[in-house]
Amino acid sequence: MTDFEKKLILVANQNEATEHLIKEDDAPKLEQLCAHMLEVNKTLNLTAIRDEDGVILKHIVDSCACLPFIEKGAKVCDIGCGGGFPTLVIGILRRDVSVLGVDSVTKKVNYVGSTASLLGLDNVSVSNARAEEMGQNSSLRESFDAVTARAVGRLNLITELCLPLVKVGGCFLAMKSLSTDEELKEAERAIELLGGCVEQVKSYTLTDGSETLERTIVVIKKVKPTPKMYPRNNSQIAKKPL
Ligand code: SAM
Repeated sequence: MTDFEKKLILVANQNEATEHLIKEDDAPKLEQLCAHMLEVNKTLNLTAIRDEDGVILKHIVDSCACLPFIEKGAKVCDIGCGGGFPTLVIGILRRDVSVLGVDSVTKKVNYVGSTASLLGLDNVSVSNARAEEMGQNSSLRESFDAVTARAVGRLNLITELCLPLVKVGGCFLAMKSLSTDEELKEAERAIELLGGCVEQVKSYTLTDGSETLERTIVVIKKVKPTPKMYPRNNSQIAKKPL
């Protein structure tokens, strides 16, 4: 194993939320992903994280934390995939699922799509779209078993973007960095209105020994169909969040 691979597995295994999620066989692809992203990032500005240790903890291991909530064989959509997190980590570590990475910024989805091809990930596809437009497209609406969104916005806002895409019985996984008590309170009405129910709020820390991050995943189960009028368009969502 390379030093990178050893460090990556060590960091994942020293955190309860990500323990045993990275297998030795998957580590070379994750190393390739990190090297490629840092290289491309010199010109494309995909992420503010520009060092290997930062990518290991803040992108790769952090992205792993959603994996236990994704059922075997699931059809997953990652809204606001940015530089490919968690899309590409899901694609590498969960060959049993398909994942669609979505972002409104063309250069980001083009990068994620070409990186998926470079890594041979035939379970990853991308779409240059806005989530609220996808949610009103009848072929995509309520068609995913799980929808993820990491660092995309406040809970009430991202619930309107993501929950309409989730099948009844599926779940929306909101990956948040800050304490979410206030956000949860603020989003209570939106979650109910959109057909969801908070199933679990999992708070945990992630550390590599020198840095510690506080993280929360809010698991919102889709219990009934979303009313037709949601999601609203971008300007209505921004002007009058639910
Ligand atoms: N998920 C990635 C991560 O954790 O590294 C990127 C997070 S970045 C802070 C938020 C991303 O969400 C941006 O790339 C932005 O373009 C995208 N985004 C925001 N609103 C969106 C929308 N309505 N539809 C699609 N993408 C959106």
